[in-house]
Amino acid sequence: MKVEGAGVCATDLHAIDGEMEPAGVTLPVVLGHENAGRVAAIGDLVSTVRVGDPVLVCPPHTCGLCIPCRRGRDMMCEQHQFTGLTVDGGFAEYVVVSERSIVPLPAGLDPAAVAPYSDAGITAYHAAKRVAHLNVPGSTVVALGIGGVGHVGLQLLRELGSGGTLVAVDPNPARRGLAASLNADVVLDSEEVVEAVRDLTGGRGADLVVDFVGTDQSHAAGLELLVRGGTYAIVGFGGMVTVPSAAMVGGEITIVGNLVGSWIDLWEVLQLHARGRLMLKTETHPLDAVNDVLAMLREGEITGRAVLIPDSNNGGEPR
Ligand SMILES: [Zn+2]
Ligand SMILES: [Zn+2]
Repeated sequence: MKVEGAGVCATDLHAIDGEMEPAGVTLPVVLGHENAGRVAAIGDLVSTVRVGDPVLVCPPHTCGLCIPCRRGRDMMCEQHQFTGLTVDGGFAEYVVVSERSIVPLPAGLDPAAVAPYSDAGITAYHAAKRVAHLNVPGSTVVALGIGGVGHVGLQLLRELGSGGTLVAVDPNPARRGLAASLNADVVLDSEEVVEAVRDLTGGRGADLVVDFVGTDQSHAAGLELLVRGGTYAIVGFGGMVTVPSAAMVGGEITIVGNLVGSWIDLWEVLQLHARGRLMLKTETHPLDAVNDVLAMLREGEITGRAVLIPDSNNGGEPR
């Protein structure tokens, strides 16, 4: 695939920092796992796409033959590889992938504009789909962290759920503004969240907390926010979840981990976007600026998702 846009993700920072080694990421590797563009060339046996088709790359590789694959749990594939982490990705002019990883774009979508769905979107969709049935009238649903994944997740908790009060939480004023523009019912600073959710729920707590951050602090806050019988879904990662088993049993707490998503999750979220039901906040930068963009992400200076555009798609000449 000729890359037209590649999203930049906090996981890229984890990889650079060497924190992804337990997940099989050994450096050096060409990063970039949110890849969109057009099919540049195909092998003889490829039958589902043609040269020139606009496509996204679903980053988990799937063999299609193992038990997890047959259950539709692509990211658990026994032959697991991940474009842009365990094999070379899309911070480049071209990326090589299997036909099984290709998701054709619905008509009318520009590849670069939707590149972040490849990871931010698929991950948000997978996580929201698993717990959105808890977003019922009268429930309180809290989204922690309105970043690249969280701002999509916030919308999906509404789209896939049905009528609870949606609370968005972020320490950054720009991201709180984004949450407000996405019609969160309540927008809170991280500092005030525990007290505010207690007030909002008459002291009961939130029925569902989805954590798009994943630090010691967010894990502690997420668990503290829960009502008895509540569910805490973890999407962002990095900290330690610490909870007494007596509190889990006594409160009948459910904790759910979420890993990326399946090919069909990505296909479904794209259909929703194509119907105009989702907004993806992106900003574009030239591929050559990759290190500056990574530094901006590290400093929390990106609102939404940064997308790298190779020179050859930026009005420059292909190299
Ligand atoms: Zn990612
Ligand atoms: Zn498999």
